[in-house]
Amino acid sequence: MKNLKISVLFVCLLCSSACGVQQAKQAINSEKQSTLTQKPKATPKNIILMIGDGMGISQITAGMYSNNNYLELERCTHIGLHKQHASDNLITDSAAGATVFSIGRKSNNKYLGLDSLGNPHQTILEYLSSKKYKTGLLVTSTIVHATPAAFYAHQKSRNDYEKIAVDLMATDVDLLIGGGKKYFNRRMTDSLDLIEVLKNRDYLVQDYFDQDLNNWIFPIGQKLAFFTSDGDPEKQSKGRTYLPSATAKSIAFLNQPNAKGFFLMVEGSQIDWGGHDNDANYIIAEMLDFDKAIKAALDFAQADQNTLVIITADHETGGLAIIGGKKFGDLKTAFTTENHTADLIPVFAYGPGAELFSGIYENTEIYNKMMQLMGKD
Ligand SMILES: [Zn+2]
Repeated sequence: MKNLKISVLFVCLLCSSACGVQQAKQAINSEKQSTLTQKPKATPKNIILMIGDGMGISQITAGMYSNNNYLELERCTHIGLHKQHASDNLITDSAAGATVFSIGRKSNNKYLGLDSLGNPHQTILEYLSSKKYKTGLLVTSTIVHATPAAFYAHQKSRNDYEKIAVDLMATDVDLLIGGGKKYFNRRMTDSLDLIEVLKNRDYLVQDYFDQDLNNWIFPIGQKLAFFTSDGDPEKQSKGRTYLPSATAKSIAFLNQPNAKGFFLMVEGSQIDWGGHDNDANYIIAEMLDFDKAIKAALDFAQADQNTLVIITADHETGGLAIIGGKKFGDLKTAFTTENHTADLIPVFAYGPGAELFSGIYENTEIYNKMMQLMGKD
């Protein structure tokens, strides 16, 4: 009887390990499965990737119903859905969620620019920069926060802001706009002055003390870094207004006639923070601010005809639902969590190659499709 029990246990162990291998293979296959067989009708010169952090369908809907039933992102011609899960979790965080867009591999939560085994990979920003494209990052969080950091840092912890700032010194990004100046020149872990390092690397460095970003004319001809705050930038409702105008000016700055093209990542960072706070008004204000930035990108792409705009999110935050309301602009909302959820995430695209973004696919495909359109499989 004892022997029987042992052999049953052994068979079960074998089975569960075989099933585990099978599942792992399926996971890897689903990651490798690609829609690259689809050929684009045309390819873009420039890509603007716009990430609304924590922006699921409900956040978009709440913004739209609070804005006379209209959002600029409705101008996009193609819509898809991506599967947001991370390597080690059904629900991604913003580090793995942006890393998958930057290196095309699912990773573990908290990892930046690394695959799930911890190996660093060149990001799309680093690749395009090496190919003489102009590149830029524009956010309403700190510039070392998970989403922007995933495009230049290679770290196992998204919380190591000072290490992430050091990683930025090895990147040839042409334009940086976001908060977090203190991680560069008043550091807790060492006495480095990374503002000086930036200046020595030919950046013009400005910040909110010197300039109102809304009034600043971006000088052409050198690299720019603008710190919008010492720590986290303010909420839109507390007076932060730079994202829409900075989007238009960043595009104009990067669209230099002698460049091969440009890659700009714009993040509406605080839609996610409103979700964590379970604060519908915070979400709506940030969503509408992000939508104004979307207008700036789409206006340029429409006139230019050579620019692909992709608008998506890393994940949904808050499990937001709209559960009633008497009229547009008077919504009754509810939340199911203070964290992220596992919902499918919408992808909106406009411009040459936009048709590739229709369908339902893994989040790795966002990277694959961008790289395909920029000439690298
Ligand atoms: Zn979050």
